[in-house]
Amino acid sequence: MATINDNYLKLKAGYLFPEIARRVNAFAEANPNAPIIRLGIGDVTEPLPEACRTAMIQAVQDMGDRAQFKGYGPEQGYAWLREKIAQHDFQSRGCAIDAAEIFVSDGSKCDTGNILDIFGDDNAIAVTDPVYPVYVDTNVMAGHTGHASDTGEYGGLVYLPITAENNFTAQIPTQKVDLIYLCFPNNPTGATASKDHLQAWVDYAKSNGSIIFFDAAYEAFITDPAIPHSIYEIDGAPECAIEFRSFSKNAGFTGTRCAFTVVPKALTAKAADGSKVKLWQLWNRRQSTKFNGVSYIVQRGAEAVYSEAGQPQIKALVRFYMDNARIIREQLIAAGLSVYGGVNAPYVWVKTPSGLSSWDFFDKLLQGCHVVGTPGSGFGSAGEGYFRISAFNSRENVEEAMQRITKRF
Ligand SMILES: *Cc1c(COP(=O)(O)O)cnc(C)c1O
Repeated sequence: MATINDNYLKLKAGYLFPEIARRVNAFAEANPNAPIIRLGIGDVTEPLPEACRTAMIQAVQDMGDRAQFKGYGPEQGYAWLREKIAQHDFQSRGCAIDAAEIFVSDGSKCDTGNILDIFGDDNAIAVTDPVYPVYVDTNVMAGHTGHASDTGEYGGLVYLPITAENNFTAQIPTQKVDLIYLCFPNNPTGATASKDHLQAWVDYAKSNGSIIFFDAAYEAFITDPAIPHSIYEIDGAPECAIEFRSFSKNAGFTGTRCAFTVVPKALTAKAADGSKVKLWQLWNRRQSTKFNGVSYIVQRGAEAVYSEAGQPQIKALVRFYMDNARIIREQLIAAGLSVYGGVNAPYVWVKTPSGLSSWDFFDKLLQGCHVVGTPGSGFGSAGEGYFRISAFNSRENVEEAMQRITKRF
């Protein structure tokens, strides 16, 4: 009989979001008239910018014209898109990243998982706690971990707590790790990393021969000019870091699908015979073999993000969510709660009051205010005692939810 990848059996059955759904459904059934507002999801709510839609409509027209029709595109993405990305997102910020180092894809979620294809199975791996669950689960699936403990930590991974006590910055490990996942601005805490903090990580990675996986999905939400948008703003980063970017959050592409990964040509890692191999070469080979590129239509939509019409539309979209974040922050502070994040990220990370557990606070908000958020403990054990509120929602829902919370607390 065929056998399975037993590593999948180690996965803690998608606990967080199904459990939220279970509690919300049970409450809604018992209270059919309660107007529930969901501030738990990490998905955008506002429509796609007009410039992107116009570009995609034009691209559909191109596909109907024999002379303009496009079949398979380059697996790495069209040069016109990669060049705009290199120029606007990196070169304009002083990062020496070339279009050839950019690989367009249909999502950062898959890229952060797929990247493990080109690495060995014997690497020591570090993640922050709390963490975006994709980084952990993809390592479990690849057989890089042991079983989960009662608190949900997998044997074999190095967990770096990020809490109010360390200002939500992961302490540089004392032991040697080979692969490090960093996400800034952070999901779920909304924290950012300063230039000095990222420099310390780059210095660590360079002296230990480690590779940093830097997830910058939320860079567009940075408002403080001192905070780096890309890890390549840090000296030495092109020799030790891969960066993941996405159009999902800055341009509302969660349902349209376009992202990219930066693999600098200077990056190397060790082969079994001790020789150094360029990671660019392996990722290029991996993508050419297992991926057939992103739809021409969608890449035209992504290109429009960088156009004269697109730029102010994207900025307005980001500002809309950040105004939501500001309202959430202000109202929760007025309600006497301790809040973090929400200034350079669309997530507000709330300390639960009176020592309530994350799930107890969830129940209290659901029952008392009919507001749904995400328990911090669902992102890792160091998230216990915290709660994530997302700014991705309509203004009306955000204002109404905050009114209910301030009335109640
Ligand atoms: C939303 C998000 C992404 C983007 O994922 P896509 O697959 O590109 O939609 C990446 N990383 C984090 C941490 C996210 O929250």
